[in-house]
Amino acid sequence: MALEKPKWLKARSTCCPGYYETLKIVKSRGIHTVCEEDCCPNIGECWRNKTATFLIMGNICTRKCGFCNIKTGCPSSLDLDEPRKVADSIFELGLKYAVITSVTRDDLEDNGAQHFASVITAIKNKNPGIKVEILTPDFQGNQDAIKIICKSKPEVFGHNIEIIRRLHEIVKRKPGDYDVSLNFLKDIKKLYPNMITKTGMLVGVGESKEEVLEIIDDIKNADVNIMTIGQYMAPSTAHYPIARYVSLEEFAEYKEYGERRGIKIISAPLVRSSYDAAKIFDALCSGNI
Ligand code: SF4
Repeated sequence: MALEKPKWLKARSTCCPGYYETLKIVKSRGIHTVCEEDCCPNIGECWRNKTATFLIMGNICTRKCGFCNIKTGCPSSLDLDEPRKVADSIFELGLKYAVITSVTRDDLEDNGAQHFASVITAIKNKNPGIKVEILTPDFQGNQDAIKIICKSKPEVFGHNIEIIRRLHEIVKRKPGDYDVSLNFLKDIKKLYPNMITKTGMLVGVGESKEEVLEIIDDIKNADVNIMTIGQYMAPSTAHYPIARYVSLEEFAEYKEYGERRGIKIISAPLVRSSYDAAKIFDALCSGNI
């Protein structure tokens, strides 16, 4: 039997002029957003504010995670004009802070690291003064990918740990395992100690509270600066089912637990790794979180 959705878990409507303007800019260049592809519940709120998270390297992923709505299959070759298209869209939206993510491209020799770097460089050239946050796949743990990307100087380097260690085996498909992700986050900080790092996870997938606290400890030990925690919402009945709706009190406990350990945690039902990213970056830089 389907779980009853709590009344407080309500996304904002998409029906407003800002939303349609964002839609038009994105569609006119044929670029993808994770907001649409992964059915993000915040799309109404973000797009009305003309904020979107761009999904580069196509909309077909080479992995299949049980919680994700992005299609799996054989992706087509890279669009070499994509860096310009993304940079132009960001210019038209008037963004001062851009978030870029991608599908996983295990089919490419460098897993798409150079394309990521080209997109960041194009955004910065077209939009002077802009800050860029990236949310990348694990690049199969390849440190060279980190080096290639960091040459283009993103302000925030994110990689999502997604779910607790035990559930990685069940819900995620290898090679996207827990330790690859954790070590990837550690490697970014080891190679670039001044880089702001970020990760995100979903709860309500089948974890216990203790297991979430353990993951927070792991993330703290990886020296990650920001962690987001949000409620899992299965995109369809074919996806991994929701185990429970986490209470607002429990989200608050995770935030407090992290902050006692010196890691900034943004924790609430509708939080996603790119949600309010610009505000979180500003607050972190000004010491207000
Ligand atoms: S939270 Fe991120 S992915 Fe979701 S709609 Fe907002 S910008 Fe898009």
